[in-house]
Amino acid sequence: MNMKGYIEEAEAALLHTYNRFQLVWDKGDGVYLYDLDGKKYLDFAAGIAVFALGYNNKEYNDALKAQIDKILHTSNLYYNVPAVEAAKKLKAVSGMDRVFFTNSGTEANEGAIKAARKYAYLKDGTTDHEIIAMNNSFHGRTMGALAVTGTPKYREPFEPLIGNIRFADLNDFDSVLAQVNDKTCAIMLEPVQGEGGMTPATEDFLKKIRALCDEKDILLIFDEVQCGMGRTGYMYAWQRFGVKPDIMTSAKALGCGVPVGAFLMTEKVAEKSLVPGDHGTTYGGNPFVAAEVEKVLDLFEQEHIIEHVREIAPYLEQKLEELVEKYSCVVERRGVGLMQGLVLTCPVGEVTQKALEKGLVVISAGGNVLRMVPPLVISKEHVDEMVSILEEVFSVCV
Ligand SMILES: *Cc1c(COP(=O)(O)O)cnc(C)c1O
Repeated sequence: MNMKGYIEEAEAALLHTYNRFQLVWDKGDGVYLYDLDGKKYLDFAAGIAVFALGYNNKEYNDALKAQIDKILHTSNLYYNVPAVEAAKKLKAVSGMDRVFFTNSGTEANEGAIKAARKYAYLKDGTTDHEIIAMNNSFHGRTMGALAVTGTPKYREPFEPLIGNIRFADLNDFDSVLAQVNDKTCAIMLEPVQGEGGMTPATEDFLKKIRALCDEKDILLIFDEVQCGMGRTGYMYAWQRFGVKPDIMTSAKALGCGVPVGAFLMTEKVAEKSLVPGDHGTTYGGNPFVAAEVEKVLDLFEQEHIIEHVREIAPYLEQKLEELVEKYSCVVERRGVGLMQGLVLTCPVGEVTQKALEKGLVVISAGGNVLRMVPPLVISKEHVDEMVSILEEVFSVCV
């Protein structure tokens, strides 16, 4: 069957919750993707910030194959070796003390919210605690994560969600302060907002939030699902300013293709929050995904991914700044490391579509932002190739 045939069958069988690009992927290699017609594309989306190591990484694939032949699943009623190794390594790179593996980013955020609420519950025996989240944030699609997602149109049809959520503005400390009261149990934010428009939290804002949390024993939750795992030139984005959260979530590039996430916490929180019976998952951290988390963390070290991001990111930033200078439809560059956005005046949907036709995969984010979250292994030549395709696109949209 050709692409058109598969697309028609997909639209007849899958629930229509995405307006998908009209193509079917066949395979990937390095930083390139191929559709069913064999057309080659440079990938600056990485399956939405997932495939950090590039496609078809031999060591990654071999680890998966080896684990398949051993055992895929055991349940969390028992211990398994890959989960132990993965948790140890994740602790080491994150500086956190305790790990709970989940199956996705949204589920990691559910766990983070539950841990924060339980911590507050054990402290004062009451239940109506509040969480402050940020406008334009994105934390996922399940009911808890959706409740703290700062885009009203995503939330409204599904209300009532979990209650007692207040919203403030990222990088506006006073707006956060205005929402704090005796019931506040957590402040939750993305150190770099992804879906909302690639906006980094400032050092000053993060430091003030941390101090506020310390003063009032409020837990600070960082959602590192998109900005974590090396993307900003730090393993986790908070490490850039040394503002450490009490609870942190990770997913997307954590598995580089296998569905896995995690929420992590410091010992201080772990001692006084979730206990047996409070939380669980059948699949979470099973040998199949944990073997890949372990391998991903090994490969990050072996292939010096963080160092590579730090080397390549300034070049990417410079090239994107040049686009801002040159084209009037490109008004601003935003982002950190290999998590970059261009704010456009022309419709971003048309730009992503035209880029795709010219063999470049880029996606959008909120606020008419063109989003670039390439595999972390891209080279300067790939940046040049991306820029030359975008130039072709921008030169016609003026
Ligand atoms: C993608 C994303 C999520 C949701 O992750 P899923 O794996 O899709 O559930 C949560 N938070 C942030 C910041 C994300 O970018």
